[in-house]
Amino acid sequence: MREIEEHLDSCPHCAETAIIMSSLEQEPDMAVPPAGLIYWKAELAARRERAERALRPARVMEVAASLILTVLVVVALAVAGGPMAVIGGLGCILMFGIGGSVIYFTLGR
Ligand SMILES: [Zn+2]
Repeated sequence: MREIEEHLDSCPHCAETAIIMSSLEQEPDMAVPPAGLIYWKAELAARRERAERALRPARVMEVAASLILTVLVVVALAVAGGPMAVIGGLGCILMFGIGGSVIYFTLGR
């Protein structure tokens, strides 16, 4: 018994298991969800994580493309139309950017 206690002091894995076991012993009627449900939720979370990871480069490219397009529009308007055209162009970009973001987040990515 003393060896077990010494091991629990030095091994975090077994100490955690001992804590879980003692809490299960204190509440024997505790409802444990079915294993299938736990597995299904874990599978769903893993699938979402994989999808999120797969889309990350596309999101980075979206932001980069938006920034490049904004710079190109500002440069083109500055060359062609002067400061008022730049202000108008930035207003349009802001309006379309906010509108696009609203649609993007409303429709749920
Ligand atoms: Zn151990």
